[in-house]
Order: sequence, then structure tokens, then C-alpha cells
Amino acid sequence: MHENILRHPGPTPIPKRVELAMNQNIMSHRSPEFVTLYRNVTERVKMVFGTTNEVLLLPSGGTAALEAAAVNVAQAGDDVVVITVGAFGDYFVGICEQYGFNVHKLEKPWGEACTAQELADFLAPLTSIKAVFMTYNETSTGILNPIAELAKVVNDTTDALVIVDGVSALGGAPAEMDNWGVDILVTGSQKAMMLPPGLSFISLSERAWQAVEANHTQAYYLNLQSYRSWAQKGMTPNTPTVTLIYGLQAVCDLIDEEGGFANTVARHELMKDMTRAAMRALDIELLTEDAYASPTITAIKTPKGLDLAEFLRTLKQNYHLDFAGGLGPLQGEIFRFGHMGYCFPSDVLQAVSLMEAALQDLGYNFTAGAGVLAAQQVFLTKR
Ligand code: PLP
Repeated sequence: MHENILRHPGPTPIPKRVELAMNQNIMSHRSPEFVTLYRNVTERVKMVFGTTNEVLLLPSGGTAALEAAAVNVAQAGDDVVVITVGAFGDYFVGICEQYGFNVHKLEKPWGEACTAQELADFLAPLTSIKAVFMTYNETSTGILNPIAELAKVVNDTTDALVIVDGVSALGGAPAEMDNWGVDILVTGSQKAMMLPPGLSFISLSERAWQAVEANHTQAYYLNLQSYRSWAQKGMTPNTPTVTLIYGLQAVCDLIDEEGGFANTVARHELMKDMTRAAMRALDIELLTEDAYASPTITAIKTPKGLDLAEFLRTLKQNYHLDFAGGLGPLQGEIFRFGHMGYCFPSDVLQAVSLMEAALQDLGYNFTAGAGVLAAQQVFLTKR
């Protein structure tokens, strides 16, 4: 009877208002009504990207938008750099290798970020790099790469494009695509954007468009020039996910009602701080250091002496609280507490309280209430 409380790093819960908006009658994507909707949402969603560039809508998961970013700007044999600090950085590696790019991989251990100095050192001996690919929020580890600093290094020292995977960051983390000098920024619907899976977003700088025009891409369905020319008419080249685009309009309304996107970002920062304080009060280790901690997802090590699978099962079976486990080398080592999108400080307090209940069930040694108290104190002082 009780529905699961989904505290995953995506998909995430959908606000009732968004569900209702998606429940409208379907319409033709070649109708004037669609053009009005398309123009409205693509203009308003720019606030989430921090850009005045066009934001294009793709009827796809985030991976297709990553692929579009790659295949539209480079060719087999082109030199590119990919920064990877976890599972999703590896997606970019895989895409670039699949297309035969000559990939220079800057790899960091899972749980660490890439610093500006590390990137500068890595780029120094390289020449003719076409693009540098990087992940903003590494969903597998809960670190936020310092995109502003990394983009500055690339722009100061090379002519390469800066291409950023913003899936699981955008909608919850600050993004200033134009000020940071990011050339291509991508995200997906089902994480901090408060929508179901199936819609992705991509925005390109003027410089990126020049690279796209010069590139003669192999892409057909993911051909960004085609998206751009249809966008000028307020449409998409193929049938779009009209239902999700209705939902996107409601998402933009919700962000406006929160008092603007800066407040939405501040709420995510607050939830991050609450979660981290709670874990520390419970003597449960965090994977990442504070300086690079994600505002949308926190990676947490297995509470000492417990079996992670049993802990996650107890949470779900006894308390309907659904966390995600670790990926790759962190499977069985960490769990991931998603606090993004339609998630509020009250949800963090609820999740921490239920975690404490499961910890008591499993005989973990702690002062009952310590986690909730710590999270609440952060909430009361920083809200
Ligand atoms: N990039 C990041 C950072 C992600 O977290 C994900 C999904 O979890 C993806 C890319 C892939 O997105 P999708 O599963 O929508 O294709």
C-alpha cells in the first residue's frame, strides 16, 4: 500500500503539478499550439543552463545527447581529451572510442574530482585537441568537477571545445555556461529536472556551432544542424516527446515559484549540507571530500559492521525507503542518497529518520536521533 520513497540519483519523484501538466491532450508537433509551447519552454529553461544560447530538445535519454555532442563536432582520428572520474565519464570515453576519435584519457580514482592543475599538466604536452569532454556531476560517486576552473584551463591554453555532461547536475547545481566558457552543455530530464526519463537538452555556443558546421557529421537522427533549423520554426525535426514538454513548462513554473533558479540551487546546497552533517553525526563515512561534494547526490560508505545489501533491503522492506547502491568498483562499498529535483529538506529529515530506524533494527551502535538532530540543526541555521 505504501509507495516507495525514491531517493535515487535518477529517476526521481515527479511533482503532482508536473504529472497533471503531462496529462493534457496530446497535440500535433506541427501545430501553432506546439510552436507556442516549444518557444516558451526553450526560452525559460535557459535559466538552468546559465546561457543565452538556444537550448535544443532531443526525444531521448541523456546518453543520446552526449553522443550528439561528440558526433557533431569531431571525426574518426581527431584528438580529444576525456576526463573521467567514474562511471559516467567512462560513457564519454566509450562514445568517443566508438566513433574512432583518438582519446587521451585523464582518469582519476572514483571519488575524486579533477583539478584545474591536473588538467593543465595533462594538456601541456598535447597538440591539436579538438575537444575536452568532462562530467559535471559524477553520479556514480557524488563529486562535482570544478567546471568553471576546468573550462578556463582549456580556454586559456588550447583552442579545444569544452563539452560538459550536465546530466544529474542541471536543475540542482549552479550552471553558468556562458560565463564559464562552456561550449556544449547537455542534460537529461529524469534527474534534477523533475521529469520522467525521455527528454534531453543540449545547448551550444557560437564557437561550437562553427565546429559543427565544419564537421560533416555522420549523424542523422542526432544531427544538431537539423535540430537548429527546425528550432528556428519553433519545432523539432522529428516527433518530440510532447507530453514531457508539457511537463517541462510546469517545471519552469515551479522554479519561478521557488523565487528563481538561484533559490532552487540553494535548496540543493542545503540538502547536501544536511545529509553530510547527519552521516557524520551517525559516524558513517562519506566517499567524497566537502570541497567537491555534489548538491544532488551523496555517496555514503557502508555503516561499520553492517552488510550493505541487508541494510538497503531493510530500508526498503521495513520503511519503503529506496536508495541506490554503488556502481562498478564501488558496488557493495557505498550507497547513493539522491536529494535532487522534487526533494526538500523535509524529505532529507524523513530519510535520515528512516535510516536511523533501520540502523536500530540491525544493531548499529549510535545515539538514536543524532543524525536527525544534526540535519535539523543545519536546516534551522542555514535555511
Ligand atoms: N551522464 C550522467 C552524469 C548520468 O548520471 C547519466 C545517467 O545516470 C547519464 C549520463 C546517462 O543518461 P541516460 O541514462 O538518460 O541515458
